[in-house]
Amino acid sequence: MSRNMPTVHLNPNLEGLGISATVAINDRSNRMLAEGKDVIKLGLGESPFPVPTSVVEALKSSAHEKSYLEVKGLPALREAVADHHVRTFGITRDPADVIIGPGSKELMFVLQLAYHGDLIIPAPSWVSYAPQAKILGRDIHWISTRYENDWLLQADELEQICFDDPDRARLMIINYPSNPTGRTYTSEQLKDLADVARRHRVVVLSDEIYGKLHHDGMHRSIVEHYPEGTIFSGGLSKWCGAGGWRLGLFVFPENLRWLRDAMLTVGSETYTSTSSPIQHAAVAAFRYDDEIEEYLQDERRILKALGATITEMLQAAGVRVKCPQGAFYIFPDFSAFADRFALWGISSSAKMCEKLLEDTGVAILPGSDFGRPDSEFTARLAYVDFDGSKALAGARQLPADQLPGQEFLMRYCGRIIDAAQRITKWLESLPRQ
Ligand code: GLU
Repeated sequence: MSRNMPTVHLNPNLEGLGISATVAINDRSNRMLAEGKDVIKLGLGESPFPVPTSVVEALKSSAHEKSYLEVKGLPALREAVADHHVRTFGITRDPADVIIGPGSKELMFVLQLAYHGDLIIPAPSWVSYAPQAKILGRDIHWISTRYENDWLLQADELEQICFDDPDRARLMIINYPSNPTGRTYTSEQLKDLADVARRHRVVVLSDEIYGKLHHDGMHRSIVEHYPEGTIFSGGLSKWCGAGGWRLGLFVFPENLRWLRDAMLTVGSETYTSTSSPIQHAAVAAFRYDDEIEEYLQDERRILKALGATITEMLQAAGVRVKCPQGAFYIFPDFSAFADRFALWGISSSAKMCEKLLEDTGVAILPGSDFGRPDSEFTARLAYVDFDGSKALAGARQLPADQLPGQEFLMRYCGRIIDAAQRITKWLESLPRQ
């Protein structure tokens, strides 16, 4: 008797989903580099900077830590994070309301699983919020933002979506300084959003993974205006250069403890606990010392100067793009070239990025991966393909209040300047009617 293979049943929520855009572009760029191609990697948003020495030393001396930890995280780390929260935002949180996870990305997925409601996200937003919701079968409401508003969500836009159906359970994720735009909210804008969220009982996940990379060190949080309804999200990946360490954290308000506990249930049944040596090392990162403060200031001024320079280069070529205020992204809009793209058969941001990669070796991600319409020629450029250790060493030689100049940027971040030049030349080479 022949035995047939069982029918394969794919969870329908996964249909149409592939490898996450950021991960896929990184794998692809690395493959192209291995084939000997000349690729400038501006796809994945990975910090170019090394982990601070004191944090690396803390990891070395914790290598023997071998036991599973509590699912919510190492007590000393949760205390350090709660302290840090008071120091930074003046908001007191019980260490019991801090949870540590294997990357904030995983915590976000677990949160979306534990919270039964719709997801509200601005467009553009980071590539993974919506696929996570889709995997879980949640309804997703994108709120389209505008270039003229710095791609930031406006309070009246949020009001509009909540007003129609005020009783619906909603989770809103906002991320600032923003991936993918590098722009961020003022305290006043955050207050306006907080007022709407409070009125409609929207739970806010405030993704502040780039908070410490505000280029002027002026980051403010919505948690200051809506402490009772905001879950703060952060981690080591961006400011501390430790993306591969996979350590993220959430800080809950007391009245969302039911949600915290539901997440811990899921965590305990899935990842059990976060890597023990990494958590021990992270204590040093959140306790801070002078070396870390200096490191942060140098990261910020390099990113600020570099972001401004490539923004100006693209603007001079006729591209609409806002100067970043934080993080290491810009979000150019190439729509002024739409007619000339059409002559090459380029009809979407995905095709535009494909062709750019083919022609120039510059790898960036299309705006459509961030929730923008396919036909809009936006893209995200992560300006991170440079040696952050050398750049930090160079910045240490500069006077404390001086921004790196052109010579510095050419010397330490030359590939990024080269990428901007390749893009502008490519735009010049587009056919004309
Ligand atoms: N957040 C980074 C990015 O947007 C990389 C991490 C990831 O997507 O998993 O490129």
